[in-house]
Amino acid sequence: MAQVVDGKKLSEEIRTEIREQIEKLGRGRPRLAAIRVGEDPASKIYLRNKRRACEQTGLDSIQLDLPAEIPEQELLAQVQRLNDDPSVHGILVQLPLPDAIDPAVVASTIRVDKDVDGLNPENAGRLLANQPAHYPCTPLGCIEILDRHAVQIQGAAAVVLGRSEIVGKPVALLLLHRHATVTLCHSRTRDLPSVVREADILIAAVGRPRLVRADWIKPGAAVIDVGINRVEGKLIGDVDFEGAVERAQLITPVPGGVGPLTITMLLRNTLQAFEIQTRPDRS
Ligand code: NDP
Repeated sequence: MAQVVDGKKLSEEIRTEIREQIEKLGRGRPRLAAIRVGEDPASKIYLRNKRRACEQTGLDSIQLDLPAEIPEQELLAQVQRLNDDPSVHGILVQLPLPDAIDPAVVASTIRVDKDVDGLNPENAGRLLANQPAHYPCTPLGCIEILDRHAVQIQGAAAVVLGRSEIVGKPVALLLLHRHATVTLCHSRTRDLPSVVREADILIAAVGRPRLVRADWIKPGAAVIDVGINRVEGKLIGDVDFEGAVERAQLITPVPGGVGPLTITMLLRNTLQAFEIQTRPDRS
């Protein structure tokens, strides 16, 4: 029977560490600015949770709510204003954006050292090159879960399902830099069950409810389920949890697994941005 990760509890522990670090620095408070465009209900909930998490951890947060019809140029001007504001240390533009706005252009406009979601191509390139940068929050949360449960990454066979810019690719790179042997799967992967059966570490980030069957799980594997799927009003993951929990050594539930870590890693990225931007020796 697997150990079931308590993502909320782990998040609380890390948030306490962040609060203590902010107090110890004694240089004021990191400030996170969030931009929401339009009225997407899920975005409203995420941002409310992010705001609460900031308050609880000692970060300042501000939020700009912009209308869905805003021209791209005007949104970029708002981002630029936050780039130039020295009281703002981290900027996030909540996805999804309206169709008329290109998220890649927006990500490229966010100043690299304030890009706490790690979506600016320069930060993505630094991740590829294994250089210090802001890395995307959900992949960081996956690694944090593995580390804090003493799962050995070095030498492990890690299988990542999903190749998005925000989860699949960056988590594959983080695992690779930690010396896992990584297989990155997607919708055209042939014979997915056979590939998954080899995984010591499985990261599922697909968005298909219970795609991963229990008998695909290698006995003793660590299973990180990033997927969030709403089925008959309930949230479930990409992994058949009830079956997989019998075979895995470690497994994250949905909800209450990776989700809380994502926001916590955003707070940590914002603290790091603050530390860098307010370093006394910074010219
Ligand atoms: P995307 O939709 O951007 O990517 C999904 C990936 O899954 C694609 O690479 C796609 O392949 C692949 N895929 C789709 N169907 C299959 C299949 N049958 N077999 C194998 N691979 C398949 O999703 P995201 O990466 O943005 O998100 C993934 C999931 O994680 C979602 O459920 C999302 O809600 C959740 N999520 C959770 C977060 C959290 O904090 N817990 C944060 C971010 C996301 P292809 O590239 O070939 O199309």
